[in-house]
Amino acid sequence: MAQILILGGGGREHALAWRLAQSNLVNRIHVCPGNPGTAISPKTTNIDLPVIHPYTQLVQYAVDNQINLVVPGPEDPLVHGVEKCFRNVGIPVFGPTQLAARMEGSKAFSKQFMHRHAIPTAKFKTFSSSQLQDAIHYVQTCAHPVVLKASGLAGGKGVLIPSSTEEALQGLRSIMVENVFGAAGDEVVIEELLQGPEISVLAFSDGYTIVPLPAAQDHKRIGEGDTGLNTGGMGAYAPAPVATPDIMHRIMTETLRPTIDGMRKEGFPFVGLLFTGFMLTADGPKVLEYNVRFGDPETEALMMLLSENVDLAQVLLACAERHLDSVQITTRPGFSVSVILVSGGYPGTYDKGKRIEVGDVPSDVVVFHCGTSMNGNDLVTSGGRVMAVTCCAPTLEQALAQVYTAIDKISFEGKFYRRDIAHRALSAPTQGLTYAQAG
Ligand code: AMP
Repeated sequence: MAQILILGGGGREHALAWRLAQSNLVNRIHVCPGNPGTAISPKTTNIDLPVIHPYTQLVQYAVDNQINLVVPGPEDPLVHGVEKCFRNVGIPVFGPTQLAARMEGSKAFSKQFMHRHAIPTAKFKTFSSSQLQDAIHYVQTCAHPVVLKASGLAGGKGVLIPSSTEEALQGLRSIMVENVFGAAGDEVVIEELLQGPEISVLAFSDGYTIVPLPAAQDHKRIGEGDTGLNTGGMGAYAPAPVATPDIMHRIMTETLRPTIDGMRKEGFPFVGLLFTGFMLTADGPKVLEYNVRFGDPETEALMMLLSENVDLAQVLLACAERHLDSVQITTRPGFSVSVILVSGGYPGTYDKGKRIEVGDVPSDVVVFHCGTSMNGNDLVTSGGRVMAVTCCAPTLEQALAQVYTAIDKISFEGKFYRRDIAHRALSAPTQGLTYAQAG
C-alpha cells in the first residue's frame, strides 16, 4: 500500500489527490499545504511544512511517514531540484530531475534543444542582458512580427506579444533594462509570431515510453470570446476536436518522441508529466513551450477523463520506476470540462475572504478547490481563481450543462466565470473522433 506526498495547494493538486484516492494501491495521500478541498478529500491529509529548498523538513516527514512517491505540483520545486532531495533518501519522485526541468526553467535552453533535435517551433534568437543593442537590431531588421519571452520562470507572465515594432522595442527595454520580470528576463528569447489554434498535450513518461492524453484547450483570457487580460486559465476541456488523430500522430512523431529520446540521449531523461503547448499552424503543430508538470486547469478536466479502470498511482509509480510500458492508459469516450470560478476583479486586484456557499451540485460534478481557505467554520475565497467546477459526460453539451448547473449552486460575492468554455469545440464536429494511444 502506497503513501503519496503531493506538493502544492491548488485545483491541480486537489484533482490529483481526488484521482489518487480512487486507487486500491493508495493508503494515504499527504498534501503540502493542500487546501480546504483536499482537507475533506478521501484518504487525504493536509500538512503544513515549508516547500523551500533543500526541503529538509518535508524530506524528514516523508521518511518518517514511509512515503513511497512524491508528486510535485508546481514547477518551482522541480526547477530548484526537489527531485534529488527525495532521491537522496531513496524516495522516488514523479517529476523530472533539475537538469530535465530546464525544459521549463529556461526557454532559451528549450528552444536550443528543439533546434538541435529539429522539433518544429517558432524561429528564434536568444539575447543575454548585455546584448540589448543586438536585440534591438534584430527586432528592427527581422522579417516577421515577434513575440518576446523572458527565458526564466515568470509565473506564466513572461511573454509579451507586441503589435508594432515600436511596442516590441519598448517591450525589450522593459524586460532588459527595467527588469519587469526580474532575473527571469536576464536572457530574452525573441521569436516569430505564430498563428493558429492552441492546444495543450499532457503526456506521461518514464524517460523511454511516452503516453499522451487527449489534447486539451485552455481559455487564458478573462473575457468571453477570448477578450481582456490573460489569466492563469478560466477553463479547459478535452478532447479538443481540433487535435484530429492525424494531428496527434504528427505531434507524437515530430515532437513528443524526439523530445523524450533527445533528452535521454543528452543525459537528462524525462520522468514525469511533460506538458507541451502547441500552436496548430498552417505548417503543422509547432511547440510554444514545454512545462515539466501537470497544468491547471487542464489537469482537473483530464483527471475526470481517465477511464475508471486507470489506476493513477500505478501510472505514476510506473513512470518513476521506468516501466510505463507495462500499464494501459485509456480515457472515457466522452468529454470533460472544467470551468473556473474567479474572484471579482481578477486578474487585477480582488478581494479575499468572501464567504462561499456550495449547494446541491449534480452528483457527477466535482468541485475542485483552487483559492479557498477556512475562516473558522466558513469556507472563504483566498485567491483569484477560487474553484474548478468539473464534469465528464458522454457529450460536450451534457458536460457543459452539468457544470453550469453546478455553478448556479455555488455563490460568493463577486463570483465571475466565463459562460463560453469550449466554444471552439461547439462550433466544430465532435462525433466520430478517436484518440489513438501511443507508446
Ligand atoms: P508560453 O509561456 O511560451 O507558452 O507563452 C504563453 C502564451 O503566449 C501562449 O499560450 C501563446 O498564447 C502565446 N505565445 C507564445 N509564443 C507565441 C508565438 N511564437 N506566437 C504566438 N503566440 C505565442
